[in-house]
Amino acid sequence: MFFVLRVCLNMLLKLREMKKLTIPSLIIIFLFFLSSFNQEKKNYLNSLQKVKASQYAAQNQPIRCRTMEVLQKHLANDPGLKSKMKIIENHCEAFIKRQRENTDYFQKPITISTVVHVVYSNIIENISDAQIQSQIKVLNQDFTKTNPDVVNTPEEFSYLAADIKIRFELDSVIRVPSKRPLWGTDDEMKFSTKGGSNVVSPSTHLNIWVCNIGGGILGYAQFPGDNPDTDGIVISPQYFGTRGYVSPRFKNGRTATHEVGHWLNLRHIWGDGNCNQDDFVEDTPASDSPNFGCPIYPTAHCDSNDMTMNYMDYTNDNCMYMFTEGQKARMRAVFAKDGARVSFIQ
Ligand SMILES: [Zn+2]
Repeated sequence: MFFVLRVCLNMLLKLREMKKLTIPSLIIIFLFFLSSFNQEKKNYLNSLQKVKASQYAAQNQPIRCRTMEVLQKHLANDPGLKSKMKIIENHCEAFIKRQRENTDYFQKPITISTVVHVVYSNIIENISDAQIQSQIKVLNQDFTKTNPDVVNTPEEFSYLAADIKIRFELDSVIRVPSKRPLWGTDDEMKFSTKGGSNVVSPSTHLNIWVCNIGGGILGYAQFPGDNPDTDGIVISPQYFGTRGYVSPRFKNGRTATHEVGHWLNLRHIWGDGNCNQDDFVEDTPASDSPNFGCPIYPTAHCDSNDMTMNYMDYTNDNCMYMFTEGQKARMRAVFAKDGARVSFIQ
């Protein structure tokens, strides 16, 4: 581009030597060329920026969730975790039994203070306050059954769709610049000593880390009973919220809904195993594998129709829109007397 500019300038000077151009007209022509060059340069830089953004998105082939893999790692590293989770499971079963016998109506609305840590290595990952607020709005809709798309629930399951009666209130946003482009699933984004951001009051606050996990992973969560220093959920920025830097297939904020489901002790709806492997919820049908994309109803496995529209499946954001009453009981059990997250409501 500079070469073209230099050639034009030489031509103009030659015309001037031949006395075919006056000095003022020479200046005007030169300024015209210079302005065209600047516009060209601007267009070129803009196109580079677009290429960079699209390449950045393309590197991530989506993997819905890594929660169970992270749990396996934590179980291997913490010999006491298995028994802690067993105690929580027993407490949950007892709560559900009391509910079934109509002796425990723990139905009051719960509000969860939420801290969002934005750990970013570039301007794209440093998502806006508006994008964060759009995610809080989705969580509030999905956990109170006020999401408009719940009307799409097939008749077979619609009577099971539950209002969990949980709301989320944004307490604070912590922004931490970092030179690290990828974080993986080893929880290092949760420690300032590793370049991340330390957990805030995990006994009373939901902590959400928004950072580029990498490997196409949308998010992962930590179950109740695990280490408080790493308690919360992690989501890559392009799968968080409904506006700003969001991926086309996962732009409805359902990654956070799914991960908060784990954080409140929900398992994947197919039970992470074969037809006999349970998700510990009575009213969800058995299945032997996750569903992807946007399945057409009915989709059947294990002799029953899959609840592909459940937030705990692996379908696209716009194809999941319900929790069940059984899942509600599991989630609310963690806030009941002696529950793993009872400190949130005390
Ligand atoms: Zn999951």
